[in-house]
Amino acid sequence: MSTEPRTVTLATVDHGDVTIPCPAWCAGHSHHDPHTEYVDIIHSSPEITLTFRHAVLLAAGLVQSPHADVDATPSLGGRATGVSVHPLGDTLNPVQLYELAGALDAYADRLRDLADQLDAIRGGGQ
Ligand SMILES: [Zn+2]
Repeated sequence: MSTEPRTVTLATVDHGDVTIPCPAWCAGHSHHDPHTEYVDIIHSSPEITLTFRHAVLLAAGLVQSPHADVDATPSLGGRATGVSVHPLGDTLNPVQLYELAGALDAYADRLRDLADQLDAIRGGGQ
């Protein structure tokens, strides 16, 4: 395997073709839109999803916009690598991602409590 940084050449609407390094976790730019502005180029990893039956309830993946404005709103992505969470629509830092995981733990407990309540209402296993 090459130790050279992996690069990608992307068309932009304002800078023409640009060649930039990709982080190791980047899944590539197969969905790149050539009408993208240079500042909006984004690296993204494969997403992890929470799927139940046929619905994707939650999806999260690494993102980084290496040329974003320095004062870009962090929750909308920026130069620092974050995790984009859908359908939340925010990019989270590690502390915020742990908070989300904690909220999901608490929600799973509430679902189990609700299942217990339902089971009791229905007479237990009937
Ligand atoms: Zn990339």
